[in-house]
Amino acid sequence: MKAAVCRTFGAPLSIEDVSIAAPGEGEVRIDIKACAICHSDLTYIDGGWGGDLPAVFGHEAAGIVESVGAGVQDFKAGDRVVVTLIRSCGTCHCCAQGAQVACETSFPLDAQSPLSIGSETLMHGLRTGAFAQQALVHQSQIVKLDDDVGFDVGSLLACGVITGFGAVANTAAVHVGSTVAVIGLGGVGMNCVQGAAIAGASTVIGLDIAADKMVLAKDFGATHAVDANAADAAEQVRAATKGRGADYVFISVGLKRAIESAPAMLAPTGSMVIVGMPPTGVLTEFDPGDLASYSQKILGSKMGSSRIRVDIPYLMSLYRDGRLKLDELISGRYPLEQINEAVAGVKRGDVMRNVVMFE
Ligand SMILES: [Zn+2]
Ligand SMILES: [Zn+2]
Repeated sequence: MKAAVCRTFGAPLSIEDVSIAAPGEGEVRIDIKACAICHSDLTYIDGGWGGDLPAVFGHEAAGIVESVGAGVQDFKAGDRVVVTLIRSCGTCHCCAQGAQVACETSFPLDAQSPLSIGSETLMHGLRTGAFAQQALVHQSQIVKLDDDVGFDVGSLLACGVITGFGAVANTAAVHVGSTVAVIGLGGVGMNCVQGAAIAGASTVIGLDIAADKMVLAKDFGATHAVDANAADAAEQVRAATKGRGADYVFISVGLKRAIESAPAMLAPTGSMVIVGMPPTGVLTEFDPGDLASYSQKILGSKMGSSRIRVDIPYLMSLYRDGRLKLDELISGRYPLEQINEAVAGVKRGDVMRNVVMFE
């Protein structure tokens, strides 16, 4: 099969013929139909999180089950599915508490990548390796995709949408009448915005440095848009929240200055939620005295604390009812051969989501 291989950090991906293993016990092999490009892919491609090379990245995917291994009962060949990186056992300490994103169990796929070229093993990037015609994953990583939801928009449900929406609905559990600010209005941040609007937040303030994203945020349910580069950005957030600051500040981008801008926007007893993942080694500063004085909280949110079998069907129903925007998140569709152009667009920051489409 064809796959986009990363051989050197920061260099273009190369399209190569890659072998993929047959599914083992509890595993499924998927014919990938769409794989969106996420900022986590870019951070890996650029070496921001290290790791071994060569590797195949791509983890925001949808496709059709091609074959299943022994013991797989919920899926069969021909099923349309969303493919995520959340691999979970269902029974460990974290899974038993509903925190599948923190599953503690090791799987055979963690020890042995299914990808190779001759005698060379390729890393199974982000537990998925979906910048490829096929991907091999554990059955816990997939969810059925309804027939009336396209593969392109379906792929977004695997990461960007659940990460943003879930940070609001699951991690922070934003309640009716709260005030929310979202820093960074990309594919994840825009889903924090629409998640907050759906949760009943009274005020939703979108912050970005791109004027067109600030305009678009209003379509996704933002009540206010603020230029994140403005010297008085925090004052504008306070002005929009009766001088109090936002009850929740979501930081969707993994940038030091974005994270450090959040405390000044936060209301007493408010929570800042770290959603975007900075490269390894990034440290931030804040005043712990302020945090204690105002009983404020810092929350980390991995993959929107999602339980994919609960959250993804719910998101599909919201989409069907016209309450969740997905089509509007897609900026461009590219064949695998043009994946480097798709990656470059995401890196420039002028797109929401670029999606690689497969025949
Ligand atoms: Zn992602
Ligand atoms: Zn587990």
